[in-house]
Amino acid sequence: MPVINKDACTFCGRCSGWCNYNAIFYVPSAHIIEVIENLCHGCGACSFACDAGAITEKPVVLGSVSTFRTERGSTLVEARMRVNEMSPVRVIKAAIKEAGEEGTIILDAPPGTSCPFIQTVDKADYVILVTEPTPFGLSDLRQSYETLKSMDRLCGVIINRAGIGDNKVKEYLDREKIPLLAEIKFDPAIAHTYSEGGLVTDRYPGMEKLFTDLAEKIKDNNGTGSNKR
Ligand code: SF4
Ligand code: SF4
Repeated sequence: MPVINKDACTFCGRCSGWCNYNAIFYVPSAHIIEVIENLCHGCGACSFACDAGAITEKPVVLGSVSTFRTERGSTLVEARMRVNEMSPVRVIKAAIKEAGEEGTIILDAPPGTSCPFIQTVDKADYVILVTEPTPFGLSDLRQSYETLKSMDRLCGVIINRAGIGDNKVKEYLDREKIPLLAEIKFDPAIAHTYSEGGLVTDRYPGMEKLFTDLAEKIKDNNGTGSNKR
């Protein structure tokens, strides 16, 4: 977070001009200059812009990254944003860095196509979009797929809660030649299982095959191969 020393500041306005986030409140006639901390993205542009040496930087806590070992021997890295923080991007970046690059890494992105999604899929070799067969699911899927296309990312789709809604998601996948990787039937017991912290693969043995098949398809890096670029 930048800190402005008003005694050294010449009120030239360069820092404010360089800030893409309007995070510097600047009224030169009144000799007022302040960093609006909630808007600041910590990009460092203002420090770079200041020739007068009036800007230093202080560390701030944006959230935390915790690492756990699961009973099954895998590692779980959790990014937790501080309440009131405007942007989760730097906490997500820290978690992805902590996860390293060894072995198979599964990054779980929030839904939507905003910065957290972009940040998470940015490093992915393959993206699995999980949708549901409803107009809402289709609308989100379309936006996500268009975003991934523009980022040149390979992807496939899982239809969750299959059996509800309509057939329009499948028609869309056919039309766009997007691989359908798996379907998970709608079953309230699945939601109960994970809301209790359980694994569906423990309670439903058939599920394990679904996920191992899915892993194989992705390892082959082609889904059905149709959206390979
Ligand atoms: S660039 Fe430096 S000197 Fe100029 S207004 Fe900003 S803090 Fe002050
Ligand atoms: S660090 Fe970046 S976002 Fe924050 S005030 Fe400076 S230029 Fe603006």
